[in-house]
Amino acid sequence: MSVDTIPRDLRGLRACLLCSLIKSSEQFLADGCDNCEGVLHIKNDNERLYDCTSTNFDGMIAAMHPEDSWVCKWQKVNRKKKGIYAISHRRSLQERHARHELATPEINQYFQKMGLIQ
Ligand SMILES: [Zn+2]
Repeated sequence: MSVDTIPRDLRGLRACLLCSLIKSSEQFLADGCDNCEGVLHIKNDNERLYDCTSTNFDGMIAAMHPEDSWVCKWQKVNRKKKGIYAISHRRSLQERHARHELATPEINQYFQKMGLIQ
């Protein structure tokens, strides 16, 4: 597991609204989301950080071998990078997308690919 992905402090953590990866704001701004950067473009963008991640999440899962873990399969993170993941969010990107708050062409394309919108 890359040490860069693991939060160094339990305070001020944020979870990606698309894949649930948990990191600090500084880590998201420095490297973006390890799974969704191509879609969300969080790196070096404070506004995108607040739009696409949330402090409002419950529970944490440390995924060391996501591809072999039934917990990760259940949480739908078995094909994501190793790291710490939130169990649930209070606010989802899909809800915000449905209200047209975050409807960029990349996010539309991603949701279409995932079968979440038509
Ligand atoms: Zn993500």
